[in-house]
Amino acid sequence: MAHAETIDLAGSCACGGVTFQIEASEIRPVLECHCHTCRKTSGHVWAAFAVHRHDLTFTCDDTLRWFDSSTIARRGFCSNCGSSLFYEKFDHDQISVAAGVLNAPTGLICAGAICTDEAGDYYALAPGLTTVADATLRAEWALA
Ligand SMILES: [Zn+2]
Ligand SMILES: [Zn+2]
Repeated sequence: MAHAETIDLAGSCACGGVTFQIEASEIRPVLECHCHTCRKTSGHVWAAFAVHRHDLTFTCDDTLRWFDSSTIARRGFCSNCGSSLFYEKFDHDQISVAAGVLNAPTGLICAGAICTDEAGDYYALAPGLTTVADATLRAEWALA
């Protein structure tokens, strides 16, 4: 999943209270997560790519707040507009970033769907994705 050249991306929450830039040589493609917590926090399906934590720089984090969504990870959101922005495991130097908060063009692709055994009953999975019932693909595709 490594890219040869540096990839530059930028994004923000809906109100601009959180803005960030990414300069990365390695990016994990977008994964959809259909688990209960991702659906609750995002309002539908959480779709995020991942980069090494040091590849992401906050240009503004005035309204950024973190919610410990489990004993292993926390989620970053904007306390003003409510945008779901980040997912970060406590024991891994990698941060997942919501693909929908990036400024276009992203150049990213949505490549997989995880935790599909917890998918909602009101939608169908997109065809063409590598799909797993649990979260194993996230570990498999984790950045080095
Ligand atoms: Zn905001
Ligand atoms: Zn999830």
